[in-house]
Amino acid sequence: MKITKVEAIYVRLPEVKQQTDSGQDALIVRVETDAGIHGIGEVDSSPLAARGAIEGPYSHTITSGLGHLLLGEDPFETEKLWYKMYNANVYSGRRGIAIHAMSGIDMALWDIKGKALDMPVWKLLGGGFRQKIRCYASTLFGATPAITHEMAKRFRDEGFSAVKFGWEPLGQSEANDIALVKEARRGLGDDCDLLIDAGLVWDAKTAVKRARSFSDYNLFWLEEPLRPDDYEGYRRLSEATEVRIAAGEEESSRLSYLELMDKGKIDIVQVDLARCGGFTEAMKIASLAWDRGLPVANHGFTTYINVAAALHWLNSIPNALICEFVSQSGTGLRDVLTKQRFVADGGYLTIPTEPGLGIDLNDEVVQELRIA
Ligand SMILES: [Mg+2]
Repeated sequence: MKITKVEAIYVRLPEVKQQTDSGQDALIVRVETDAGIHGIGEVDSSPLAARGAIEGPYSHTITSGLGHLLLGEDPFETEKLWYKMYNANVYSGRRGIAIHAMSGIDMALWDIKGKALDMPVWKLLGGGFRQKIRCYASTLFGATPAITHEMAKRFRDEGFSAVKFGWEPLGQSEANDIALVKEARRGLGDDCDLLIDAGLVWDAKTAVKRARSFSDYNLFWLEEPLRPDDYEGYRRLSEATEVRIAAGEEESSRLSYLELMDKGKIDIVQVDLARCGGFTEAMKIASLAWDRGLPVANHGFTTYINVAAALHWLNSIPNALICEFVSQSGTGLRDVLTKQRFVADGGYLTIPTEPGLGIDLNDEVVQELRIA
């Protein structure tokens, strides 16, 4: 089998609001083969920059568009092709956008392999640890502590046993930070896990102080309180609190994760399949975490392609802790982009068993929303 085409498809809602919302556009990778099988993947990045990394021309030996590197190659050779792409972008893409772009390509290659062999991706990865996985409802904080309280009650009533609130208005004042977390906990009750995503708002000492204040509310984890490169701050925070510190969604390539684990001493490693380097890299990140005794979770705030990828991966590793799941559709792109949707049942997601990723694009929607 040979790769004949690598396409980066940018879809965007007609009206995009300036708000914290990853669901208003998406970059989809579609890889075609001479066997009539195609694969899809997703890139969660700056979409047109990542499209440029895929569709760009050969520039020189260590800076090259990714797509043409793959033409004529065998899609089964995912490990070889990962390093072919990496080595051809040593100059421009060891982290960030080129690795993001490689994530979507790698995802699509595994989708092709699964479809060709009539097996789900997790089986090809050697997985099979579980049939379903506990997920947490992932959402932004309400505008006020009282609204957050009501949201928490709704998620609990929907059957979730874990809920994450994140980002603004956290970070505006100590009193409001504590009130938000307190009301989230009161809304959930005592028997539901509460996760807090700080959204990069504090310095290390403030984060230590907040972690201490939040200890009254029994957090499952405290996520990304510091800017991603502050490894020393992460280490000081982690050593100063019993609250588990989670981070990793900003990272791409396992070498970045090693910094967070070994210098930052984080407790829970979060991996976005659409950013980290795809399945090929995510399996290595999970192994490095396991070696250090660390549980891992996915990160994902975008389409069901990424949700499916996360489920295949989480079913293929021994240290999967829980699955992030955005249960509310937000602007709605996610609910129309693919033919399949995922719905949490009693706070669990079922692992897909269809060949490949088990996800098909809704072609009419793609045609309507794609930006040339
Ligand atoms: Mg986060």
